[in-house]
Amino acid sequence: MTDRPHEACGVVAIASRGVEPARLAFFGLYSLQHRGQESAGICTADGESLRNLTGMGLVSQVFHERDLAKLGGQLAIGHTRYSTTGASRLENAQPLVVTSDLGSLALAHNGNLVNVDEIREEVLRLGARPRTTTDSELVAHLIARSPGQDWLSRMRHALDKLSGAFCLVMLTRDGAYVARDPWGIRPLVLGRLSDGWAVASESCALDTIGAQLIRAVEPGELLKIGADGVHSEQFVQSTMPARAACSFEYIYFARPDSLIDGQLVYATRERMGEELAREHPVSADFVMPVPDSATPAAIGYARAAGLPYREGLVKNRYIGRTFIQPQQQQREFGVDLKFNPLPEVLRDQRIALVDDSIVRGTTTPRIVSMLRRAGAAEVHLRICAPPIRHACHLGVDTAPEDTLIANHHSVPEIRGMVGADSLGYLSLPGLVRAIGLPEDDLCNACFHGRYPMTVDALRDKLALERA
Ligand code: SF4
Repeated sequence: MTDRPHEACGVVAIASRGVEPARLAFFGLYSLQHRGQESAGICTADGESLRNLTGMGLVSQVFHERDLAKLGGQLAIGHTRYSTTGASRLENAQPLVVTSDLGSLALAHNGNLVNVDEIREEVLRLGARPRTTTDSELVAHLIARSPGQDWLSRMRHALDKLSGAFCLVMLTRDGAYVARDPWGIRPLVLGRLSDGWAVASESCALDTIGAQLIRAVEPGELLKIGADGVHSEQFVQSTMPARAACSFEYIYFARPDSLIDGQLVYATRERMGEELAREHPVSADFVMPVPDSATPAAIGYARAAGLPYREGLVKNRYIGRTFIQPQQQQREFGVDLKFNPLPEVLRDQRIALVDDSIVRGTTTPRIVSMLRRAGAAEVHLRICAPPIRHACHLGVDTAPEDTLIANHHSVPEIRGMVGADSLGYLSLPGLVRAIGLPEDDLCNACFHGRYPMTVDALRDKLALERA
């Protein structure tokens, strides 16, 4: 396990007259696999009923050719999950389906609500009996039991009550709907298919299914997509809050070939490396990344520092992201499965090692000592994010706050603990410059602890499980 924050989830919604929407949803989810590997699901609608198929594991493990053919329909939504609320088990896999007097509603969610206790109380008061431990099911019940003669009115009514991060894809027997929270915390984009429309967490999914990126789904926007067009409205009734796009999408979560708010993620990572080289220069023989997520930043660092770029660690690309195994012992074992050093490159060399983050600090010392065992003379660690001092409550599993190494240790202490010869973190202003958006439009709460809305600092992802 590389000691990283864990992704949120990936969602897609498809309205297509020609190509089977389940097949497009499958390939869309396939390209969003990096956002969650615990479970996957696709739900389709054909004008009369819904067909839902979910399972544990990777997208390619859950779906087979025969399933896609059976799912049929003209509309589809899909989800790939890493649990940020509720345990990793099949009942919590999404999309999940609830019933109402208007028919069934399927819903899948990327993000995390912060007013979940309030929503749960309201849902129970309205008579629903949730069967899963996810905040996503509460949202589905809240919509299904809200006042209104049609789905759009019910969604409008319910969505305005939610606080926190949410990108929702929803499906009824004859409509596919999409909503993004008013802060715009997680990314969500709208694309045009030759015979319909597609929405996905990241633009890389649109590229994969041959959809043309049209624009981001706006914060606070509710969309209905159909083969014949797009209906758009704002569901926020009061004043819109300030934007708060998650900085970690740029640092680590999103795929480098995705465009978020007009910024190519790969280019923002190169700029993080350039900023880091200016803030923390080092005398080294070459610059190398912890592959793969830090590769663009290491290239940027090397360019700005005028140092050679080399690769001294080879990554096994086929074991997946090792946090599939959630046990600490397995995580630590995972590092050796994942990386193999190249002694011929490393021997007697002074190395500037670029990585994207240090979370608990369990993996970094193992990588540093692996490099030393392979002959490295000096290891100077450069991190292209500020120290993570606070837990995320907005859809990212950063680990509990008291387990974050920077929550209770200074940078010199962390340097000693990871065994590096020097350690430099990118400053927050440097990160903001690299991302290229105004600081006021970004969430940086895991660095400074100022969340975009009131959060319950003690809640963890299994809180609903215990309730
Ligand atoms: S707290 Fe950190 S990980 Fe969570 S949304 Fe904000 S920037 Fe992203």
